[in-house]
Amino acid sequence: MRRPTQQFVFQHVYEMASMVEECLENEGSLIEVDWDDSEVIQGLASFSKISLLHRYVYAMIAVEHRREYRKNADLYEEGPESIGRVERLLQSYDIPFLPYKKYRPPIPVDEATTREEYSFHQWFLSQEAEFEWLWERLTEEVFHILFGNRSFLLRFNQAVAKYIQSDRVMIPETLLDAAKCFRRVYLPSWVKDAVYFRDHGRCTLCQVDLSGLLSTDRVDHFDHIVPLALHGINDPCNIQLLCERCNLKKGDRTAVTGTRYSPWWTQ
Ligand SMILES: [Zn+2]
Repeated sequence: MRRPTQQFVFQHVYEMASMVEECLENEGSLIEVDWDDSEVIQGLASFSKISLLHRYVYAMIAVEHRREYRKNADLYEEGPESIGRVERLLQSYDIPFLPYKKYRPPIPVDEATTREEYSFHQWFLSQEAEFEWLWERLTEEVFHILFGNRSFLLRFNQAVAKYIQSDRVMIPETLLDAAKCFRRVYLPSWVKDAVYFRDHGRCTLCQVDLSGLLSTDRVDHFDHIVPLALHGINDPCNIQLLCERCNLKKGDRTAVTGTRYSPWWTQ
């Protein structure tokens, strides 16, 4: 993945975040993540900045777009509006591309093959790298939305834990403990900062203020939403902020999060 940009466009991103949420209803959709990539497995064991959620979102966007473009191979004939929508999406993310109207197939075609050669799908395949760039940009923005949604993160991590337990993922023994769960590792400060920022310095279960601005006896705990003992992962998306009391109560056998969010202002 390229270095993420901080210029967000938010074109169709909420729509895509909903699509990703729907995909998760089928835990089998996790098969689209490239589990054979050793960086993916290493990331689950020790907090990668390219989180598993990034990888899942990218895979779902890519699958959905490829399906759309394949299904609509004759899209241009069916409706120029649809193709205009795709081109506007590329434009809004400043991704250079060859407009469909200017696209010509690489080899001369006779009358019989013209329709197919000029199809939308061919046009898409001729600049797949540009589309992959678009999907990366969309992934960053969809991640931005979904990382803030702890209910989704709970469901995501539960699905991942179930998937990992199904033996469909090969994990080196060195990364696991005796119970075949990921070992506890040092939590990087960038994860703590992100989670503290997202959870507004409050315990996500009882909402007590942990900022330490007014009281010095509050202790913050960074908790695995799905505990390591339940096959949770060491990923930024599986961490939440809790107070000491709630963390002790939750223990290492419960997967739970809070659904209360701080309003921008109170009534
Ligand atoms: Zn609490």
